[in-house]
Amino acid sequence: MNNDNHGGADAGNGSDNGAADRLGAMKIDFGTEATPPTPPTPATAELPVSRANPASKLSPFGAISIISDAPSDATPMAGSPTFAADAAPRTESKVLIIGSGPAGLTAAIYAARANLEPLVIAGSAPGGQLMLTSEVENYPGFPEGIDGPDLMARFRAQAERFGTRFADVDIDRVDFSGRPFRVWARGTEYRGESVIIATGASALWLNLESEQRLRGRGVSACATCDGFFFRDREIAVVGGGDSAMEEANYLTRFASKVHLLHRRDGFRASKIMIDRAYGHPKIEIHTNTEVAEVLGDAKVEGLRLRDTRTGDERELPMDGLFIAIGHRPNTDVFRDWLDADEKGYLVAHDHTRSRVDGVFIAGDVHDHRYRQAVTAAGDGCKAAIDVEKWLEAEGIAERATATAW
Ligand code: NAP
Repeated sequence: MNNDNHGGADAGNGSDNGAADRLGAMKIDFGTEATPPTPPTPATAELPVSRANPASKLSPFGAISIISDAPSDATPMAGSPTFAADAAPRTESKVLIIGSGPAGLTAAIYAARANLEPLVIAGSAPGGQLMLTSEVENYPGFPEGIDGPDLMARFRAQAERFGTRFADVDIDRVDFSGRPFRVWARGTEYRGESVIIATGASALWLNLESEQRLRGRGVSACATCDGFFFRDREIAVVGGGDSAMEEANYLTRFASKVHLLHRRDGFRASKIMIDRAYGHPKIEIHTNTEVAEVLGDAKVEGLRLRDTRTGDERELPMDGLFIAIGHRPNTDVFRDWLDADEKGYLVAHDHTRSRVDGVFIAGDVHDHRYRQAVTAAGDGCKAAIDVEKWLEAEGIAERATATAW
């Protein structure tokens, strides 16, 4: 898929994505068998060599040293993080970064280069939403495109190169009542003089078995990421809010026809968006309609639809399905401490600052407008710069790194 929506680690909230979310897209070969999304690269695969440590290989999980509370002699499963036997777990840092999508890892790169020795609580599915994306074509610097896991492996290797440490665990709770700020994950307490929250957001899914099975094979939650792959194809969008209207409208650029499926006959979307959808020659709106099953083995081939009033079912041939029923920010553990809007997204004040002095916010966890890897990365950069200046002002970090960015 093209992607890009990214997101942070699904730290401590137990929602789906975590890593996964809104994408799931793919590069679909409609003529032959669909190419499944690239799985996290096994440790044994041929991987690019890190410039920082030529002996190491990049993996989406990082390859150098990962702090874990797993026994040091544990045998990692294929594809699981590698544990360096001599890695002394560090649990204190000038800056704790929670989340390991583009926002968290960019913050780590900047903070590490400023000698802040960041510690990233990366989540148990590190890398954010791009980890389930096959092809990212809109991240600058990769004219040929890059697989999402490969991109995140590069982010991570770059952060490690400058000394970032990682703990691939989900956080359970936090205490921001005083400094150092405290974060608990799997029984271990981590302490930071400052914190950057970059836990991202997760797309909501219908949670049908067939939908989950075909994610990345025609089922997506990101039209801007994957619409491109559906040129001259017939596709469906689920939802009745502004997102669904917007995505349906956007997808008409590529698709031969867009079916908008909504479970009621009343919409949450604004009137202008509804009117635009009804007036579009390529959009057909089906109200009182829900998806009972996504049909197809290797890729989406059709939908079994159910009338929500009568229960009657029918099948419709279809090449793709976009789910646009909203997102859920990964903010549960922060609710008692930080300002959130009515949807649960954290509220930033004065650029990346939160209500708590010393706690900063970056990426999708507060940005539900752009939700792109590149915007999240930019946000992570801003948060790291703000943290560094804040630590300097507090006398915790030495001055003189401001020109080192
Ligand atoms: P939303 O307004 O919460 O709408 C979600 C839609 O998905 C609802 O129509 C809901 O149906 C449907 N839905 C939820 N769960 C479902 C399920 N399990 N199965 C089938 N349908 C389901 O979410 P949104 O559209 O993402 O918008 C979120 C916010 O962003 C809104 O405030 C919106 O105005 C804003 N936004 C604005 C723009 C814009 O201005 N350009 C664009 C996008 C989003 P029901 O109605 O039956 O509950």
